[in-house]
Amino acid sequence: MATFLTMVQMSPTGTQELKKRLLNRITIVFNGCWVWQGSCVTGGYGNLTFKCESLYAHRASWEVHNGPIPVGMSVLHKCDNRRCINPEHLFLGTQDDNIKDMYKKGRQAYDYKCKLTEQEVLEIKYKLRHKKFSQEYLAKMYDISRSTILAINLGHNWSHVPWPDKDPSKLRRV
Ligand SMILES: [Zn+2]
Repeated sequence: MATFLTMVQMSPTGTQELKKRLLNRITIVFNGCWVWQGSCVTGGYGNLTFKCESLYAHRASWEVHNGPIPVGMSVLHKCDNRRCINPEHLFLGTQDDNIKDMYKKGRQAYDYKCKLTEQEVLEIKYKLRHKKFSQEYLAKMYDISRSTILAINLGHNWSHVPWPDKDPSKLRRV
């Protein structure tokens, strides 16, 4: 688990700058979630580097809108979307609350792998079709749930990604 970083003594200009960075990297979706489009870390939380510090996007968003997070507190999601940084969907709680909340919502850790990239989906589709790896094996290989693999296979997810004839991993740019 990455460390929770809290910004300390941020100047008002720094705060404005960070706020701008955050708001430039979101997509607002139908339920009001501000979905982080930048990179994300294991656990599925958005993250960004700001002034040489690695920050969780949702915590940074809480701070630029509400002020510093009290020591030891976690920023939790009402909407259950870890990539969401809408301050109205965030609330403070203890790590203990986070765990209880997680159980209440029936959330499981493996559901929160960072989103797959198109490249990975191409590889998965290729492997599903041509190499006959089991779905279970592919799920382990890409650290995603079997239901995600199943949804890709049935065309419920990622239907815009083609089924490649040639092995896409050989086309990967380095
Ligand atoms: Zn949300």
